[in-house]
Amino acid sequence: MNEPRLRFGIVGAGMAGILSAIKLKEAGLDDITVYEKADRVGGTWRENTYPGLSCDVPSHLYSYSFDLNPDWSHLFSPGAEIQAYFERIAGEHDLLRCIRFSDEVVSCEFTGGRWHLATASGHRDEVDVVIAATGVLHHPKYPEIDGLDSFGGPTFHSARWDHSIPLAGRRVGIIGTGSTAVQIVSAIVDEVDNLSLFQRTAQWILPQANPAYSEEEREAFRREPQVMADLHENLSKLFADGFANAVVDAESPQMKLLEEACRANLEQNVHDPDLRDKLRPDYRAACKRLIISPDFYEAIAKPNAELVTEGIEAIVPDGVRTRDGRLHELDVLVLATGFKVDAFMRPMAITGRNGRGLDEAWRDRPQAYLSISIPGFPNLFMLNGPNGPVGNFSLIEVAELQFGYIMQLIDCIRSGRCREISASASALEAFEAEREEAAKGTVWMTGCRSWYLDDRGIPAVWPWTFDRFRAEMSAPDISDYELVS
Ligand code: NAP
Repeated sequence: MNEPRLRFGIVGAGMAGILSAIKLKEAGLDDITVYEKADRVGGTWRENTYPGLSCDVPSHLYSYSFDLNPDWSHLFSPGAEIQAYFERIAGEHDLLRCIRFSDEVVSCEFTGGRWHLATASGHRDEVDVVIAATGVLHHPKYPEIDGLDSFGGPTFHSARWDHSIPLAGRRVGIIGTGSTAVQIVSAIVDEVDNLSLFQRTAQWILPQANPAYSEEEREAFRREPQVMADLHENLSKLFADGFANAVVDAESPQMKLLEEACRANLEQNVHDPDLRDKLRPDYRAACKRLIISPDFYEAIAKPNAELVTEGIEAIVPDGVRTRDGRLHELDVLVLATGFKVDAFMRPMAITGRNGRGLDEAWRDRPQAYLSISIPGFPNLFMLNGPNGPVGNFSLIEVAELQFGYIMQLIDCIRSGRCREISASASALEAFEAEREEAAKGTVWMTGCRSWYLDDRGIPAVWPWTFDRFRAEMSAPDISDYELVS
């Protein structure tokens, strides 16, 4: 039987979209269009350009396993370098000609056995398979604070940094104390006149130095790529054993070690007892996403920095007024308030079999079998979809494993075994029931508020070890899928 010629639509040209296009081409599946709403590849690394941006996953792990990079400058390289890496990879794999830039997919409808895509510019496409590579931390979340629009100076979200605004000599306020805010504080404290950090919840900080790679080390990576491959492998194992496997077992010895390291960092490196008390969280380390920083405590202890723990009452033309009635006068206000994490591929309007929309399928909350496939939405596969592994480890590694799995689903179509494939409703139901039960033993449920938690307070993430994830991704159990010939 002749192999059907399959056409692919990939939504998003970030890390996962680039990966998908490379892997499909490698498999000889080259009838691909990647839709990208912006004018460049890079996803989150294109959108986030705030001062201090770097990835807190070591660069030699946060790299495609098949395209390791000998030139990383640091253990945790800056965001601009990561963006340049993705641009280079996209160019070297000749992807640019299959990417349709500045054209956002607004709808995807499954009719007549194919997906019908429409873009904002009015372009139409018909594809056999959709890969949703739309990212997780993508839609900025603006805080609901009275008077947000009334501030007289520039205000912007951390993911929409306005580089035209000078910070030198100015009074800068930052709302939020997540990974983003912590990186910004360290980066700008010496430049600004005054820095006010508005903390609603204290955070645990894991100290970690960020050494540069010497030219000799980089030369060694270039000369002997196997050294890099071994490093990638070792880091992967370290993250799986030391972190990913620890957080899913709140009582594990590794978890205790992480907690001790965070506690020691606070007790030993914050010398002012009042500041130390303000910075001490009342929940367990890694319950919220663990923050990694070599120098945040040093930065926030500087004389021109103030940690404001009084709640915010309102934003006013001159700054931020806290509940104690104090006005914190500011020239610039930065909202490091995170992202809407349950949007995934929305606001794209997605309609599956029998006219059933994604909003209806996800009426309660986003769900996908193994975070990849949604019942009734055949031949649509998600990378870094709902309830998958997120946290302090490499989302590139996650996406690579997921794509290996997706490729095997695609092979079912390619081989003629079926024309349509999607997870069965019963498989999703069983997966979710088991996942919710397992989530109870994770550190994420030990008593904090975080973006990991869904509307019921259950972590919307993979609650098992990374080893289990790797094993699940190695081969789909086709009996969990509905195949239509
Ligand atoms: P985040 O972790 O969601 O933190 C948002 C912060 O804003 C929190 O401190 C939150 O306080 C605060 N906030 C939100 N609304 C507020 C309000 N109305 N009033 C006062 N405070 C408010 O966001 P993020 O720091 O941008 O990080 C998001 C994720 O991006 C991270 O968890 C991580 O996965 C990723 N990230 C990674 C890196 C990296 O190096 N790899 C760097 C940056 C970001 P509460 O804690 O009280 O809710």
